[in-house]
Amino acid sequence: MTSLVQALVALAVTATPLAAQVTAIKAGRLVNPETGTIATNQVILIEEGRFTAVGGDTAIPRGAEVIDLSDLTVLPGLVDTHNHLALTYKKVPENDVYYLTYVMEGTPLRAIQAVSNGIQMLSSGFTIVRDMGNNGNYADAALRVAIEQGWIPGPTIINSGIIIGGMGGQFWPTPEMGTGKGIVYPEYLDADTPDEIIKAIRQNLLYGATVIKICVDCKPWGYTTDEIRLVIAESAKAGVRVEGHVQTVEGARRAIEAGIWSIAHSRGLTDEMHKLMAQKGIFRAGTETPLTLTGHTTPEAYEANVRGLKNAYDNKVPLTFSTDADYYVPGKTRGEVAIEFLETWKAAGIPPVDILRAMTVTGYQASETLETRGLIQVGLVADLIAVAGNPLQDIDALREVRFVLKDGMVFKRDGVMTPEKFFNPGPVNGWRIR
Ligand SMILES: [Zn+2]
Repeated sequence: MTSLVQALVALAVTATPLAAQVTAIKAGRLVNPETGTIATNQVILIEEGRFTAVGGDTAIPRGAEVIDLSDLTVLPGLVDTHNHLALTYKKVPENDVYYLTYVMEGTPLRAIQAVSNGIQMLSSGFTIVRDMGNNGNYADAALRVAIEQGWIPGPTIINSGIIIGGMGGQFWPTPEMGTGKGIVYPEYLDADTPDEIIKAIRQNLLYGATVIKICVDCKPWGYTTDEIRLVIAESAKAGVRVEGHVQTVEGARRAIEAGIWSIAHSRGLTDEMHKLMAQKGIFRAGTETPLTLTGHTTPEAYEANVRGLKNAYDNKVPLTFSTDADYYVPGKTRGEVAIEFLETWKAAGIPPVDILRAMTVTGYQASETLETRGLIQVGLVADLIAVAGNPLQDIDALREVRFVLKDGMVFKRDGVMTPEKFFNPGPVNGWRIR
């Protein structure tokens, strides 16, 4: 009997959870991008990967690990709503021709590149990335799962799987290569009929896509409004949203009419389209390449992008920060390429607070993470970054990210990546949530 009691007591003792480790961050300044305000000398508490307290009079519990960011400005993590982490075309060997990259580099290599690109994005403060296709044979899904299982550090990934389009996708293959060899796969899923559209969506969802991307008008015929409605309805069965690659005004009109979630690229987005997008609350991922990324835009395209972005801002379209980054710029990480897009936003005359909103709050909305992660709020997953300057006065302060916390763990400190805690032999911290 005694031994049974002892055994029960021992069991009870071992079953009692250890007091959770508390992390306390002392923030010299704390930015709230929703209100555009800054609070000074705040304390942020984190337990089991979530924010448990935020405030000026928050007491730091005994035994907490204190991270002193008193000299820095703390703010929520950034979002790039349109990147291609598993694609990096380069001068050598493919002369920046993407057709060659996907022929010369297979999915396994591109998946490894995606891990590296994701780490580079996180180091530049991007805690969420929407990875929008052209990622080989589901390298984007592998990346997302590897991050969620805790194998590697990286941003939270919202990924599209393979881009769905009419025959050829964005490519113009020869009959030998297109029909004979199906060469557009795995960059595009050919889907020309309603049955093919439904099947393509189900294939993407089966293999791990968490958003669906379609070519609305990559070919002169493109998808009709009804076909886009079909895509939206089929994706909605799995609770998944649809982004449209749009390059013409008529394509934009059809996508907007169908009620698409987000539109990528700005070529088809006129003043009229912007007004319709604002009415319907359709997110804009304009992918406005700055002129400073030499060779990746032209002065004419850049000027049009600046005008378009300004027009969208004036029309109160829900703006997201998006880059379409899928190339190597010597001397720059993928994160530095992404943050360079600030140049276009500044040229469009958009105030820093609204640029920051696009990069945070609107990004979380477009990514549908608002309820789980993004803002520095009690109950949400603990992601945050810190910079030296004040981004509400000078948005370029975001170029120098000194500190990154992801899933409650320090990824970067004093400007140096310290990712040890992110490397695990399996999902030892449980699966991370999006
Ligand atoms: Zn793209």
